[in-house]
Amino acid sequence: MEKRKFIYEGKAKRLYETDDQDILIQEFKDDATAFDATKRGTIGNKGIVNNKLSEKIFTLLEKKGIPTHFIKRLNDRDMLVKRVKIVPIEVTMRNIVAGGMAKLLALDEGIILKKPVLEWHYKEDKLHDPLINDDHVMALGIATPKELEIIKKYSYKVNEALKKFFDSKNLILVDFKLEFGRYKGKTMILADEISPDTCRLWDKTTKEKLDKDRFRRDLGNVEEAYQEVLRRVMA
Ligand code: 5GP
Repeated sequence: MEKRKFIYEGKAKRLYETDDQDILIQEFKDDATAFDATKRGTIGNKGIVNNKLSEKIFTLLEKKGIPTHFIKRLNDRDMLVKRVKIVPIEVTMRNIVAGGMAKLLALDEGIILKKPVLEWHYKEDKLHDPLINDDHVMALGIATPKELEIIKKYSYKVNEALKKFFDSKNLILVDFKLEFGRYKGKTMILADEISPDTCRLWDKTTKEKLDKDRFRRDLGNVEEAYQEVLRRVMA
């Protein structure tokens, strides 16, 4: 399948139509942003790494019974995906305190949570993706009660599968962000990408950060960290 009409450019990806109206091509860029796109830069070969990592992880999740938009990787930067209408919430799952949770509650990074914490953030950079609850989601018609239940069920399942998977690669899954969408107007499936852009991953032994926090916090060796995650995941 080939790229036809360009339809959307996000912070890290572009979307193109194909000959099939229900199928898009998702192209991964090297562009990196942080802090609601107020910090911008590029991470060398990030698009290639995130395309390959997302392929690997979506394939694993499909095997675990979680429906995703992933169809097939086409080349270094492009994958075929099912066209969805994205639900405008960022689903965040946390196993260890870091980032936004550390800031919100003035907690030290690294505290192991007694249970995973699921959060909804309303997807709007201008508002800094504010934390909202189930009632906001339902009262504003963002998703139905039934859809929320499905998203919750899948998100906990993703967490269990990925915690185990990354652990086997000597990585700790600290937290991550998921996005869901409706395929053909109804079926809720996992969309977007799963990569060091969207997950916090720490080395199990040294606790070294191997994710986008290296870019956000100017820690250096950003490209190397992404390559290291890819190397371990593919090993
Ligand atoms: P936090 O809320 O702590 O900033 O983020 C929690 C997790 O979700 C982190 O793994 C982070 O990478 C991911 N995340 C949250 N918001 C975004 C976002 O807007 N874009 C991306 N790429 N990841 C996000």
